Amino acid sequence: QLDEVGVPQGEEGGARGEADCEGGFGSKDELLCVTRQVLKKMKRQVLVGDFVEVSSIDWTLGHGVVKSVLPRQSTFQTPAVANVEIAIVMFSLRDPPIEANQVNRFLVAAEGANLPEGVLVVLNKQDLVPESETREWVDRLKAWGYEAIPISTHDGTGVDRVWEALEGQLGVIVGPSGVGKSSLINAINTSGSFSCDDSGGVGVEPVDEEEEEVELLDVGEVSARTGRGKHTTRNISLIKLSNGGFLADTPGFNQPHLLGVTTRELASCFPEIVQRLEEEGNKCEFKNCVHVHEPGCAVRGDWERYPMYVDLYHQVKDMEERALKMG
Ligand code: GDP
Ligand code: ZN
Repeated sequence: QLDEVGVPQGEEGGARGEADCEGGFGSKDELLCVTRQVLKKMKRQVLVGDFVEVSSIDWTLGHGVVKSVLPRQSTFQTPAVANVEIAIVMFSLRDPPIEANQVNRFLVAAEGANLPEGVLVVLNKQDLVPESETREWVDRLKAWGYEAIPISTHDGTGVDRVWEALEGQLGVIVGPSGVGKSSLINAINTSGSFSCDDSGGVGVEPVDEEEEEVELLDVGEVSARTGRGKHTTRNISLIKLSNGGFLADTPGFNQPHLLGVTTRELASCFPEIVQRLEEEGNKCEFKNCVHVHEPGCAVRGDWERYPMYVDLYHQVKDMEERALKMG
């Protein structure tokens, strides 16, 4: 990815995927790298999106060695991408219909990744429903603390707003199967892309002239057996956008039962709770209040997702207790 660290001309440099070197190797700006043996021994995987230190650079051949992986700001699980800044959580208003509990789970899972730019909700296939239905969901999500963007990848409505949200950011798109994630990625896909296999070996692959054309995802090809898209791919690439953003070319399906959030973190995944606690004087009586049964709790109350919070709290707690028992 971006060369934010900068690659000085010479033997060593730090880069995330793209080497921007003066007098380097022309227009390719890419290095094919192997990972240093010691990193493999430490089981430090190099992920797409990582900033890495590269040594033993051969500018003529365009080769280098990944010496170290710089600390990650965030790690996204599915798709496995490091330093993600924004998650686009996508649903469709119809085919498949949007469902509140599922939306809730995807939102909490995405919030759990603790991304600097947070979560953007996108409601696709607005071309299939009356405007009043779209509005209902936009208003509902607003009450949950989210601005939702109605879009249609078919007629192009709203795609520009997703594009703008990705400006200068590294983004991923997640959501249930069939909502139009691949269609949106294709709609956004413009310039070249960098690829990286996630076996932990290669950092960046040089793109051959003929291969520079960006491969499109297969829209709508969902395996009947697994119900998952054909692109449950091992290879994740970052699509480089002309506005300075990057988008992972692979959509993510969250595992609803593997939220990756602890009971402690759960409250911070609900904007409604964060807001209630921020409001002056609106403090819970107990310092370690989990907002479930405590008296004097400022969070408990008459807001739509509160029962979902309580439900998830118990689920996550059960998981934690089971994990403890199993050591
Ligand atoms: P994914 O599984 O989330 O990647 O979804 P796909 O991109 O494969 O899309 C699933 C189906 O929805 C395909 O048949 C698409 O043509 C269709 N689709 C995607 N976007 C839209 C849209 O904006 N409107 C309508 N009507 N259909 C769409
Ligand atoms: Zn409380």
